[in-house]
Amino acid sequence: MLEIQCVSKSFDKTAALSEVSFSVAKEEIVAILGPSGCGKSTLLNIIAGLMTAEDGTVCFDGKPITDIPPHQRNFGLMFQDYALFPHRDVFGNVAFGLQQQSLPLTTIQQKVTTILKKVGLTNYSHRDVNTLSGGEQQRVALARALAPQPRLLMLDEPLGSLDRPLREHLLSELSQILRALHQTAIYVTHDQEEAFTIADRIIIMRSGKIKQVGTPNEIYTHPASEYVARFLGMTNIISATPERQNGEIGVQLPAAGWHPLTNFHKQPSGGHAPVSVLLRPTGAIISPQGNLLGKVTGVSFRGSSIRLQLQPKQSPPLIFELPTPDELPQVGTQIRLKLPPDAVTWLPKGNA
Ligand code: ADP
Repeated sequence: MLEIQCVSKSFDKTAALSEVSFSVAKEEIVAILGPSGCGKSTLLNIIAGLMTAEDGTVCFDGKPITDIPPHQRNFGLMFQDYALFPHRDVFGNVAFGLQQQSLPLTTIQQKVTTILKKVGLTNYSHRDVNTLSGGEQQRVALARALAPQPRLLMLDEPLGSLDRPLREHLLSELSQILRALHQTAIYVTHDQEEAFTIADRIIIMRSGKIKQVGTPNEIYTHPASEYVARFLGMTNIISATPERQNGEIGVQLPAAGWHPLTNFHKQPSGGHAPVSVLLRPTGAIISPQGNLLGKVTGVSFRGSSIRLQLQPKQSPPLIFELPTPDELPQVGTQIRLKLPPDAVTWLPKGNA
C-alpha cells in the first residue's frame, strides 16, 4: 500500500535519513522505533508531503505521490502536541477535517457521532475541550484524525505527553480502536514498550538508517545487532567463539557450558572468530539443576517477577527477569539458573 524506496534527506549536509526503504501493507500497524534525533519525524513529514526528500520515492497503491499536495493525500496525522482548537467544542474539533471536505451537515453529524462512539466519547459532543482530562483530549485528537477516514494514519509520539499509567491504558485502547476500524497506521515512538504493544511490525532506526524490520517477536527473539539488543534493554552480551560439537554449532559460555546457536550462519571469516552472543534476560528459572552458576549481586522485586543481577565466574555481570520464586535469592549467595533451550542467540556484526 505505502512504499518508501531509498529515501534520503539531509539538513546542512548532515544526513537525517539515508536510503530508507520499507513498506506498509493495508490494515497494518507499523511502528517506527528509535531514539530522539534518529529521523522519525523527518520520515513522517516526507510521507505526509510536508517535506520533500532529496532522493528516493514514496508510492501509495503503486503510484508515486511526490507531486500530490499534503491535503490531497488523505493521510491523517496526530502529533504529541495535538493542539485541539480551544474555541471549538468536541464536535467542532472532530468535524474540522470533514468541514474542509465541504460535506453536508447531516453527513458530518453522522460521521462525528460514529467516531465519537468508537473512541468512547459518546455524549461529549458539546463539551468545551478545555474542561476535558488529558486522556479525553487525546481521544478527541484521535477522533479528529480518524473522522475523515484517512487512507493512512500517522501518529507521532501520540502519548508522549501523558503520564505512564494513563499511557498504558490509552495505548491498549488505541490499539483496539485502530484494529476495529481496520486502520492502516504508522506509529512513531522512542518507547519500545509502546512499539511492541501496538505494532504488527516494527522498524528500528538509528541515525537516519533502518537497523531492523520485523514482527515484535522476530525482533525480540533475534535482534539483528548488538545495537538493537542494547536498545531493547537486553544487555547480557558476551563474546564467545562458535565451534562445532556433535554436528551442531554452538558456544561454550563461561559458567554456563555449551549452548547451540540456532540462528548462526557462517561468517565470511569461516566462523571461528569470536562473536557477540546474547543471553535473553527472560525465560530462565532458579533450579539446582541449572547450568548457569553465579553469585547474586542484586535483586529487585517487581510483583510477579524479580530482576536478578548475577555474577558468574569469568563473565560480565548478567541481568535476568525471573518469575518471582517463593523465596527471594539472597545477595551474596551462589545460585544456579536453568536457561531455556533458545536462551542464547548470535548477534551479527557489521550492523551496529
Ligand atoms: P526524531 O523524530 O527521530 O527525533 P528528527 O526527524 O526530528 O528525529 O531529526 C533527525 C535529524 O535531523 C536530527 O539530527 C535533527 O536535528 C535534524 N533536523 C530535523 N529537522 C531539521 C531542520 N528543520 N533543520 C535542521 N536539522 C533538522
